[in-house]
Amino acid sequence: MSTIIPLTDVRNAGHPTAMDAFVREAADAAGPAPELPVDTLGRHLHDLRISVTDRCNFRCVYCMPKDVYGRDFPFLPHADLLSFEEIARIAGIFLRQGVRKIRLTGGEPLLRRNLERLVEMLASLGDVDLTLTTNGALLARKARALRDAGLRRVTVSLDALDDPTFRAMNDVDFPVQRVLEGIDAAQAAGLAPIKINAVIKRGLNEHAIVPLARHFRGSGHIVRFIEYMDVGHTNGWRMEHVVSAAEIVAAIAREFPLEPAEPNYTGEVAERWRYRDNGEEIGVIASVTQAFCRDCTRARLSTEGRIYTCLFASAGYDLRALLRENYSDDQIGNAIAAIWRRRADRYSALRSADTPRLHKVEMSYIGG
Ligand code: SAM
Ligand code: SF4
Ligand code: SF4
Repeated sequence: MSTIIPLTDVRNAGHPTAMDAFVREAADAAGPAPELPVDTLGRHLHDLRISVTDRCNFRCVYCMPKDVYGRDFPFLPHADLLSFEEIARIAGIFLRQGVRKIRLTGGEPLLRRNLERLVEMLASLGDVDLTLTTNGALLARKARALRDAGLRRVTVSLDALDDPTFRAMNDVDFPVQRVLEGIDAAQAAGLAPIKINAVIKRGLNEHAIVPLARHFRGSGHIVRFIEYMDVGHTNGWRMEHVVSAAEIVAAIAREFPLEPAEPNYTGEVAERWRYRDNGEEIGVIASVTQAFCRDCTRARLSTEGRIYTCLFASAGYDLRALLRENYSDDQIGNAIAAIWRRRADRYSALRSADTPRLHKVEMSYIGG
C-alpha cells in the first residue's frame, strides 16, 4: 500500500503499459458494440470532464501547493496537449457512448488560449449540457465570449469572502473582489444559474462557511460546500482536515434554518438543502463522509488525452495514441466502451486510513 512516490510525478507517466495494450486490443476488436456500455457495478457513462490545461494561475494550498508546483515544475509541453479538434472529436465519440454532460476544467481552463473556440465546437455537437469550472480570475474578461460561443452555465470556485483568507488559500495574493467581479460578469452575460464551489479545510477556512452562505442568499447563485478530499498526494491530506458535510449544514442551519431537498437526478454529487424561509438552495458535496460511488457516472479526459474512470485512479488509458494513429471513430468508441465495461472504481466507498497513501494522479492534471 505504501509505494514511495516522487512528489513531481503527478501524472504517473509511463506506468500504464498494460492499460494501453488493452485500449489497442479493444479498438481493434471487430464491429461497433450495439449497446451503451454499463460498468461492472451497473453504472452508465453519463458525464465527461475534460481537462484543457494542467497549468493554473493560482496555487491553492489544497490543490497545487507551491513547494511542488514551483517555477521549475515540468508542466506538459504544448505538443502533448490534445488540440481542440482532437478534444471535439473524442467528445463526439463519447456522446455516442451515452455522455450527455460535459464539463471543461483543468488546471485553470480559462488559461487555455481561445477556449471559446473549443466551446463553440462542443456546443455544436448537439444534445449536451456544456459547462465549465473556473477559479474566476479571468472570468470578467471572458464571460461574454464564452456565452456567445454557446456555453450555458459556469461553476466558480470561491473558498472565502474575506481577503486575507482567500489570498492565503490561492497563495498568489489574488484579491477576492476580482472573482466577485467575474461572477457578476458571468451573470450579466447570462451564464446562470451560477454555482459557487467552496472547499472547506479545517484550520484554514471553516470560518468562511456562514459568510459565504449569507453573501449568496438572494443572489440566485447556488453555493456548494465541498469536503476536502485526498486527491493526488501532494496536498498532505489528513482526515482531521476534513470538515464534514454534516458540520457544514449544522453551522449554516444555526443562522438560517434548512431542510433537505430532493436530488435533481440520480448521480447528482451535491446533496441539496433549502432555506426554510425563502426556499433557495445550497449544496454539500460529501465525497469523504458519504461516498457517492454507487451512482458515479463520470469519466475524466486528461489534458494529454488519457481516460480516467475515477478521480482517485492511479493511471489512465491513452486515447491520444489512437487519435494520432488514425484509428476510426468506431474503433475509438469500441475502446471507450471496453474501458467503461471493465470499470470497478469505488475509491471513496472503500476509503480507509491507508488509501490516501495509494499512488493517485493530481486533480489539477485530470480535472476536478
Ligand atoms: N481551476 C478551476 C477551479 O479551481 O475551479 C478548475 C479546476 S479545480 C481542480 C476544480 C475543483 O476542484 C475546484 O472547485 C477546486 O476547489 C476543487 N478541488 C481541488 N482540490 C480539491 C481537494 N483536495 N478537495 C476538494 N476539492 C478540491
Ligand atoms: Fe488552480 Fe483550481 Fe487547483 Fe486552485 S483548485 S490550484 S484554481 S486548479
Ligand atoms: Fe466516482 Fe471514484 Fe469519486 Fe467514487 S471515488 S464517486 S468512483 S470518482
